[in-house]
Amino acid sequence: MSSEVISREVTRRRTFAIISHPDAGKSTMTEALALHARMISEAGAVHGKAGRKSTVSDWMEMEKARGISVSSTALQFNYAAAATPDPDVPNVINLVDTPGHADFSEDTYRVLTAVDAAVMLIDAAKGLEPQTLKLFQVCRHRGIPVITVINKWDRPGQSPLELIDEITERIGLTPTPLFFPVGIAGDFRGLLDRRTGEYVRFTRTAGGAKIAPEELMSAADAAAREGDEWTAAVEESELLTEMGQDHDQELFLAGQTSPMIFASAMLNFGVRQLLEVLVELAPPPGPRTDIEGRPRPVTDPFSAVVFKVQAGMDSSHRDRLAYMRIVSGEFERGMVVTHAQTGKPFATKYAQAVFGRDRSTVDTAYPGDVVGLVNATALAPGDTLYDGPKVQFPPIPSFAPEHFSTLRATTADKYKQFRKGMDQLESEGVVQVLRNETRGEASPVLAAVGPMQFEVVTARMKAEYNVDTIIEPLGFSLARRTDADSAAELNRQRGVEVFTRTDGAILALFSDKWRLQYIEKEHPDLTLETLVAAA
Ligand code: GDP
Repeated sequence: MSSEVISREVTRRRTFAIISHPDAGKSTMTEALALHARMISEAGAVHGKAGRKSTVSDWMEMEKARGISVSSTALQFNYAAAATPDPDVPNVINLVDTPGHADFSEDTYRVLTAVDAAVMLIDAAKGLEPQTLKLFQVCRHRGIPVITVINKWDRPGQSPLELIDEITERIGLTPTPLFFPVGIAGDFRGLLDRRTGEYVRFTRTAGGAKIAPEELMSAADAAAREGDEWTAAVEESELLTEMGQDHDQELFLAGQTSPMIFASAMLNFGVRQLLEVLVELAPPPGPRTDIEGRPRPVTDPFSAVVFKVQAGMDSSHRDRLAYMRIVSGEFERGMVVTHAQTGKPFATKYAQAVFGRDRSTVDTAYPGDVVGLVNATALAPGDTLYDGPKVQFPPIPSFAPEHFSTLRATTADKYKQFRKGMDQLESEGVVQVLRNETRGEASPVLAAVGPMQFEVVTARMKAEYNVDTIIEPLGFSLARRTDADSAAELNRQRGVEVFTRTDGAILALFSDKWRLQYIEKEHPDLTLETLVAAA
């Protein structure tokens, strides 16, 4: 495959995730994006009879109902942006899902290693919420540029400047709105395009089921039409310009500023603008640094990183699905590639086309795309697959756990299987395993980002290793990385216990943040480092 073809495919791709707190409107926004990409003809059509009121479709349901290519992990669609030179060669958008709600887990963070940009979706009334903050910290740590969308502008909420201040002050990210709302939250009329000075006026459709018609107006016409609402928007926008809060591509890519849009996913207001901004400003897939520190160009032979592995809980190892993000080259279904960790060949004839509109006809994929691999027994998150000369990418780091439990077998006679299962589940990245001398091998401590990870462990211990296990929550709620020198002093403290993780990291667990703050104050010389995504 010629490198020109690959370059062209890469240039038109954008791979991103939506980071948000439950209920901010991620599903509604996903559906609105699909509507704009004309993958579906009516939003809310999948579940709800009465417009958008009842439920928002879940991706799998959309897939079943519409026959479009959606998986619970990645959604791909074409979108011809206004600036796209040839509408026959539209942009290809990959939206990778960040599981939230009850299934929030380490996978939620790992997904962010597979994207080139993130859309931070914020509820206009609620502002920054805990899960959004955690996901944002991971983006910041990985240098992923963030686009901010203030959602639900059709409902009463905070003022634009309050929201901008909150983001600036709490997370040190400077919003640079591209589109400023005309009308306060709850009275969403349209958007001031800050770069052209023009007005985009929206019209509601019944139940927000269709793409909202837009009317483009000059500033003079907008002033005549919206009066004070227009003037207020223009004045606040000028204030932002005076404060230097205009878009700057370099600062955005460096993670210092965030282009901002105001939207209503429910009414489909601002959704087209979001797509345009993604295409215009979000970076296309780029080179990824391998373990030798060399950037792997996208035009090199095929390589990919596994970022998520899903195992069915019903039967044996066979129904394991691994999701890879392509880093370089062209992927063709059926290719035999090499698994860098074992050096063994891996046949991709069962590659699931989670890409493309039509499952049966699309069987090539390019950098930025996500492909599901069936039967992926040997693959774990962070693993590399490649073709040609060997390449290996760095492992995905472990993220800050916030839930801690002991695990033990209900009977003592299954110790061997227990140990085997534990090792396997840990190597797959299902949970982190912590050990210390006091507790011994028979009751390791499991550490997780979300409690659902524990349920997966007990279910798989039973299904795959035939061991009944009991999970017992421990009274710890946060972890800090420490070192051998500080460990002894920490172990003497009440509400603290020190463990070693399998990767060698020494972690101190604390009952609560007040305990931690007290110890930090009393013993300022102890090493206590924040782990990635710790709140
Ligand atoms: P998720 O948990 O982030 O996926 O949120 P959902 O998309 O399920 O939305 C949560 C609730 O907010 C649902 O009742 C939606 O109908 C509602 N919602 C989402 N977006 C908007 C919006 O732009 N305006 C209004 N008024 N409601 C919205």
